[in-house]
Amino acid sequence: MGWLELHKNGAMTSETFASLHPATGEQIGQFPITTAEQVEQIVREATLAASWWQSLDAKERERRLLAWNSILVKRVSEAALLISNETGKPVSDAKLEITMAISHLSWAAKHAEKILKPVARPPGLLMANMAARVERVPFGVIGVIGPWNYPIYTPMGSISYALAAGNAVVFKPSEYTPAVGAFLAATLREVVPEVPLLQVVTGFAATGEALCRSKVDKIAFTGSTATAKKVAAVCADSLKPMIAECGGKDAVIVAGDADLSSAAEYTLWAAMSNAGQTCIAAERVYVERPVAEQFKTLISQMATELKPGSDSNSSYGAATMAKQIDVIESHIKDALKRGGKALVGGAESVRPPYVHPVVIADVPEDSISMTDETFGPTIIINTVDSVEEAIRLANDSRYGLGASVWSKNRGDEIASKLHCGMVSVNSIIAFAGVAAIPFGGVGDSGYGRIHGHEGLLEFTFARSIVSTRFKIPLAFTTFKRTTMTDSIIGRLVRILHGR
Ligand code: NAD
Repeated sequence: MGWLELHKNGAMTSETFASLHPATGEQIGQFPITTAEQVEQIVREATLAASWWQSLDAKERERRLLAWNSILVKRVSEAALLISNETGKPVSDAKLEITMAISHLSWAAKHAEKILKPVARPPGLLMANMAARVERVPFGVIGVIGPWNYPIYTPMGSISYALAAGNAVVFKPSEYTPAVGAFLAATLREVVPEVPLLQVVTGFAATGEALCRSKVDKIAFTGSTATAKKVAAVCADSLKPMIAECGGKDAVIVAGDADLSSAAEYTLWAAMSNAGQTCIAAERVYVERPVAEQFKTLISQMATELKPGSDSNSSYGAATMAKQIDVIESHIKDALKRGGKALVGGAESVRPPYVHPVVIADVPEDSISMTDETFGPTIIINTVDSVEEAIRLANDSRYGLGASVWSKNRGDEIASKLHCGMVSVNSIIAFAGVAAIPFGGVGDSGYGRIHGHEGLLEFTFARSIVSTRFKIPLAFTTFKRTTMTDSIIGRLVRILHGR
């Protein structure tokens, strides 16, 4: 019996919680707090579902996932409204997010068979009588823990690739977006009615922790660095592998030869869209001195035109999580107290549930607004004397998720010197939309990769198989090995590797 049945039959705990619209407070739904025992039962169901899913051939799995994708395409408006209601973001932004998730699901479904097929490897001269191959084996059940800021796009980066690789999934959506999680499970059920292939467990930290302690075979966590560390500690108890997709403090480098109006326009969007609640949001800009004033003027002019709100013409919505507003305010205040110059807005821009655009220049690098993830519609612009200084400062962060570089001539060269998982050159966050490439970070931004070849490989383990093709007189893994064999091996090794 899966989550949906438990829920319908009233077998779930009587404890529930409400999902609310962050701007209006309207109740979107009431959801059960799944207990640890229920999580265990659900994972047992998922283990059976995984065996069934793996018994299908790859083409049938692809067909089912593409059928699910068609349902998501047909129901974009419904899903977008749900996202908008739970997160407060404009419906059009929610649609953009679903569109990206759809293209990832399609890519994962279509490429899994080819990328995960067994591959022959050369056995080497000493083992020439052997055939060697590597198979990719799905883990079984993946526990996916998701955040609220992109409640379909982000978890689907794990869910799509995990399912395409042959796993079942138990998904714990954020307590701020449980309805979106339930929507995903219900729609997949329409094309995979046989087993509960994707189940949802709703609740708070305790439910997430129960999932980490359960018999799932791997955890794919997306959320804050602080929570990732707690999840990793629990996973360590059972040596459970995990992927950690965490926060960021993405830098933007604007070189003297950049197309300044594009750099300003796109950087502003990367900083402020979704109320700045994007792991790969632009949070700090390093601009070369000769173009710094012009860049600041351009971005400030555009920032003053942005209007947060809850109607369809709003540039972005409310802060989804009320407690984040205090963090945003503390960053703005610290930046200004430390000598930063407010170009647009300031501490008075924080008007809950909205934060109006804030642009600040010349902030010391050790201000918390430069070192910690702000996750709000703010951007800091610091002037540098060279691209090399910009690279050094961009890399001087404990985070390393994404970055963007604006330069007509040096974009790729700069990108290759950045210590982070993803870089967009003369564009922003473009890497999130290309399904074929991996997504993830280094340092406090986490480890492991979703999306692309690497994302499929991440949800499988390697099984190496070596089989004897023919017998040779040289047997070295036997007690019958002779001194003659030893001396032949010694000579062979000197010939092969002695130079
Ligand atoms: P969060 O860490 O508060 O929560 C994430 C999820 O973890 C939620 O479902 C939550 O219920 C669960 N959780 C909380 N405590 C837990 C515990 N002890 N054990 C297990 N699960 C637990 O993060 P959030 O506020 O939902 O999301 C915002 C953060 O996510 C930001 O830092 C953002 O940068 C990051 N993020 C990263 C990516 C990425 O791909 N790198 C994408 C989106 C968001």
